[in-house]
Amino acid sequence: MKTQTIVVRNPGTLEQIAELAIASSDDVAAAVARARKAQTIWQATAFSERAKLLYRLRDLLIDEQDKLADILTAETGRPRAEAYGNELFYLCDAIGVWAKKSAEYLKPETIRAHFLLMKTKKVVSTYVPRGVIGIISPWNFPLTLTLGEALPAVMAGNAVVVKPSELTPLSALFGTEIMAKAGFPENLFQVVVGRGETGEALIDHADMIAFTGSVETGKHVMHRAAERLIPVSLELGGKDPMIVLKDADLERAAGACVWGALMNCGQACTSVERVYVEAPVYEPFVDRIVARVRAIRQGASADEVEVGCLTSEEQLKKIESQVNEAVGRGAKALTGGRRNPNFKGFYYEPTVLVDVDPNMGVMREETFGPVIPIMKVKDAEEALRLANDSRYGLSASILSRREFADSRLAERLEVGAVCINDSLVNFIIPDAPMSGTKNSGFGTRHGAEGIRKYCLQKTIVTHRFGPREEKPWYPTSAKKSAQIRHLLGLLCRSGWRNKLRAFRSLVSS
Ligand code: NAD
Repeated sequence: MKTQTIVVRNPGTLEQIAELAIASSDDVAAAVARARKAQTIWQATAFSERAKLLYRLRDLLIDEQDKLADILTAETGRPRAEAYGNELFYLCDAIGVWAKKSAEYLKPETIRAHFLLMKTKKVVSTYVPRGVIGIISPWNFPLTLTLGEALPAVMAGNAVVVKPSELTPLSALFGTEIMAKAGFPENLFQVVVGRGETGEALIDHADMIAFTGSVETGKHVMHRAAERLIPVSLELGGKDPMIVLKDADLERAAGACVWGALMNCGQACTSVERVYVEAPVYEPFVDRIVARVRAIRQGASADEVEVGCLTSEEQLKKIESQVNEAVGRGAKALTGGRRNPNFKGFYYEPTVLVDVDPNMGVMREETFGPVIPIMKVKDAEEALRLANDSRYGLSASILSRREFADSRLAERLEVGAVCINDSLVNFIIPDAPMSGTKNSGFGTRHGAEGIRKYCLQKTIVTHRFGPREEKPWYPTSAKKSAQIRHLLGLLCRSGWRNKLRAFRSLVSS
């Protein structure tokens, strides 16, 4: 039978840059079996040894940064500066955290049992690697969401098989080369290339799935994983709101908004996707946004442009359809609002939309493109109500001098993270947990939980001293039953008189 392949194209130029064989279900099963063997040995290595390899990997990433930037820009069409700034810098920084903190995050914890009779036991809670972690990734950050997702799992003692997006598999494949060069054991980190079926095969064989992608695919992944009852973590889409209050520093607000909305051509799960501005500052804020967006240079993979292209034609069509629908229903594009005619690839002009309303698709559904829809609101309460009126709950931002000192609005936003007087920045703090709510999924990236999720939490209870026979053991008797009842009264009743009565009954039983 002829091997099925995937053709990878540069979305900026539409040139073919690779053709790769698709991994069949049998190929995936074989990769997981190889990973399982490698994992049993890897599990026995000390954290210090794992950290040493991570630091070596980081040095190699820095040595090979230009080659990696070539790959990243070719498969995503992003500006070169973004390849260095957004992916490489983040990954190298996060590696330091994972290398340094994993041992602490996964340290066995001795637990002091509260029950007097359990003081005879030693209770220890430990973290045991799950085995082979299957990672299924989207195309928007092809390095961060493959190698970057795998390294915490590896630090926790697992082997990893990654299924990158069919649109951007090359960075992950480079990851296998560089992991081998750094000295990680063979088959500890593997990549299987393919589309949905390859992802499904991975769900059928791995011990846990860490999925990042769309809500619709996430539901499918969870459904399939339920057949085997394996754990899943789901990091899904977002429709992140930004709230600009009347006391905000408007220059900072405009900067945070434009960067937060356009970084990576708007293709970040935590991109600013809708903006609510208090009426008194609406006009000066919009003026600043338009001026900043008009100054943005869009183009191919050079250092001197800020915004690149979208990664797929499907994505471009989705954005066109959302913007056209909004304009058809009365919205106005103050700048942009169309494909960029100067390029052959999937370029959409950075766009500012006003006169939008909450029922338009551009205000409700994930856009994942360089579009900033701005809406005027009466006050902070209206902004909060509209921000929470969404099926998504990933993150949000608030621009306000008052909010700086008083984060009550942040607490009432139904999201996993809030940036105050900033945007997007929570993603690049690998010490802090990042998770979502509602349709944005569950499962935590970063922080202690970002590593612990790849482990089974195992409790080990050891009998240290005390009677040879335990009370609840067989045989049962009327006397034992009475003692248990009195003990229950002694331990669990409230009021010292009741406790005293139970104690007397226990002693005389
Ligand atoms: P997608 O859901 O289409 O695909 C994601 C991955 O799933 C791809 O590798 C794809 O091949 C695979 N896949 C497709 N069908 C599958 C199936 N039936 N079984 C198993 N795997 C299958 O998502 P996308 O379009 O590649 O990525 C964009 C989405 O990712 C956006 O919604 C974005 O918000 C989300 N995202 C979320 C986060 C986060 O941290 N929450 C980060 C980045 C991206």
